[in-house]
Amino acid sequence: MKIALIAHDKKKADIIALAVKYRELLAQHELYATGTTGKMVSERTGLSITRMQSGPMGGDQQIGGMVASGAMDFIIFLRDPLTAQPHEPDVSALLRLCDVHTTPLATNVRSAEIMLRALSDGLF
Ligand code: PGA
Repeated sequence: MKIALIAHDKKKADIIALAVKYRELLAQHELYATGTTGKMVSERTGLSITRMQSGPMGGDQQIGGMVASGAMDFIIFLRDPLTAQPHEPDVSALLRLCDVHTTPLATNVRSAEIMLRALSDGLF
């Protein structure tokens, strides 16, 4: 399963905590991330992660491209809804593509945990 991890800056601590908690599960899958998220998560967990550009530099678009071509199965995107993002159009485009292609997408930590537990239980 190809899984993408993305977190806005104020959510980086949350995605690291999530990756630490679900490290064994995540290690069984092919992981992708936007640049800074990937760097921080791999440093803290040792997980092998393919890193795209940083989000504001096009990383969300790169992951969106994978969604569009059917090459991404599952996305955890911890968004910060309280801070304006310079790359908001890219964020919206990625969310839209997940809906177009019915790609499972969690945008907050509790949804992400539910999806990860479902993945662990073999529901995907
Ligand atoms: P980052 O990008 O992981 O490079 O910080 C995330 C984003 O802001 O979309």
